[in-house]
Amino acid sequence: MAATPWALELMLVGAVPLAVVRRLQANLQEILHHPVSIMPERLDPSPAFNPARRQYDAMTLLGLLQPLPGKHQVRRLGVTDVDIFLPVFTHIFGLGSLSGGAAVVSLFRLRPENNGYPPNQELLHWRLAKEALHELGHLFGLRHCPVPWCAMASSRSAEEVDLKDAAFCPTCAEQIGIVPLPKGFTAHKPW
Ligand SMILES: [Zn+2]
Ligand SMILES: [Zn+2]
Repeated sequence: MAATPWALELMLVGAVPLAVVRRLQANLQEILHHPVSIMPERLDPSPAFNPARRQYDAMTLLGLLQPLPGKHQVRRLGVTDVDIFLPVFTHIFGLGSLSGGAAVVSLFRLRPENNGYPPNQELLHWRLAKEALHELGHLFGLRHCPVPWCAMASSRSAEEVDLKDAAFCPTCAEQIGIVPLPKGFTAHKPW
């Protein structure tokens, strides 16, 4: 990341609370040591709605989130509260293309209250930070990582997200040129 200039924009998709995205902005800035901006406009996810599944197509959302052509240095992460899917999966936490400028992450399946647990806002913030980092890692060309605590480990459930850190392992961090495990984001954490 350090080698070429890049910008990271967060975009609210649908009715996601601004306070949650502001908290994600602060967490990502601390983890990545890089400024993160929030776009002023919200994206309407309704073109991605699939009536048969009553979910939103993540590929369609990625198309809607693409930065303007020519802005190759811009990475854009959509943050949404709607339930997103890919045709081969019942649901996903997020999607980031290995080559594209856009990724999306959803709070829906990360919410404890959607998994049979009481609401827990702190837990939700940390899960979101981890899955946002995961999708950003894909945007920067990282694939899934075998290190269990690395943000690039793949997670099939919210409980598996809890096993990860909001950080890249040294190997992944080196590949994208950020400092591994910044102060305050050490293993096995803080709620
Ligand atoms: Zn992944
Ligand atoms: Zn890793």
